[in-house]
Amino acid sequence: MEQCMVLHLDLFAIFVTVGISPSESLGSASNVGGTASPKLDPPPSPHANRKKHRRKKSSGPPRSEGISSATEEPEESYGFVIVSLSGQSWHFEASLYEDRELWVLAIESQILASLQGCESTKNKTRLGSQSDALAIQSIRSVRGNSLCVDCDTANPDWASLNLGALMCIECSGIHRNLGAHVSRVRSLDLDDWPVELTMVMMAIGNSLANVVWEHCTEGYTKPTPESSREEKELWIRAKYEQKLFLCPLPTSDVPLGQQLLRAVVEDDLRMVVTLLAHGTKEEVNETYGDGDGRSALHLAAAMANVVCTQLLIWYGVDVKCCDARGLSPLAYARRAGSTECVDILLQYGCPSDGCSPTPGLKSIQ
Ligand SMILES: [Zn+2]
Repeated sequence: MEQCMVLHLDLFAIFVTVGISPSESLGSASNVGGTASPKLDPPPSPHANRKKHRRKKSSGPPRSEGISSATEEPEESYGFVIVSLSGQSWHFEASLYEDRELWVLAIESQILASLQGCESTKNKTRLGSQSDALAIQSIRSVRGNSLCVDCDTANPDWASLNLGALMCIECSGIHRNLGAHVSRVRSLDLDDWPVELTMVMMAIGNSLANVVWEHCTEGYTKPTPESSREEKELWIRAKYEQKLFLCPLPTSDVPLGQQLLRAVVEDDLRMVVTLLAHGTKEEVNETYGDGDGRSALHLAAAMANVVCTQLLIWYGVDVKCCDARGLSPLAYARRAGSTECVDILLQYGCPSDGCSPTPGLKSIQ
């Protein structure tokens, strides 16, 4: 009797079928059912609804039927088959139901990532593609970028924008799970690379990122390319969520926000990155105080500093904050003649006409 659970993902150029026994024909899978052995059923998957939805597109039976019938023959393993649209297929077997679930989820997430990346490439112009290729080449050549920032896998092709670092595909999946407030993941090869993002990636790179984020790793072992996903995830969460290895602040005598203002004025990128890694949203929004009111973003814009302008926005500096004269960061970027800074600020909703000026002060716009 055929015993097959089919998970069908015709995404990008790959779809995945999952069967109890890889040797079985998918076509007659509908024979399954009615022979379930409830007490042996595997645990329900938290992703059952999602898979059920996808299976509507396939000819396979509901998941519970396929799995249940499989449990009648304990010698069977939990297999899955990856089939490309060109007809190639790869059969895999896991000894545990849970293992297979993990594999399928991991493959699904990578297919999804590819699909999302490809969506953004559809509108690329030929010129855009060429300039992106140059940008990618430049990013790859930055110091430290030949190895994954977290596990040293060679030739990483995923980026974390706000961290300014490159990582392997497995680590990128873990970064994505941390949330965009911790790491903004982007594909080197599949996504667009506008100038401001390229500039951030070229300014930081894996070496500088790890000077900051892996300052003190004593007592911990960094994952290798061969490490398990679990080991990599533990490391990545310790590094970016718990900030266990983070470079300490240079001083605790001066408020972080004031140190940030100084670091921006001095164009000290390493210090800016360190302070942003430590800072709360409130701290990074600190200004020069009453009578001035400029934030770090005003200063970065005034200096036409594209990298700092972009980083400060990602780390939560308010684009709508106006100084004591009622001027927005955009007014400063325009005065500095920085098209890139102006573009970034407009993109994030910075008011173009400044704010209500303080009485007695004249706008420079
Ligand atoms: Zn990695």
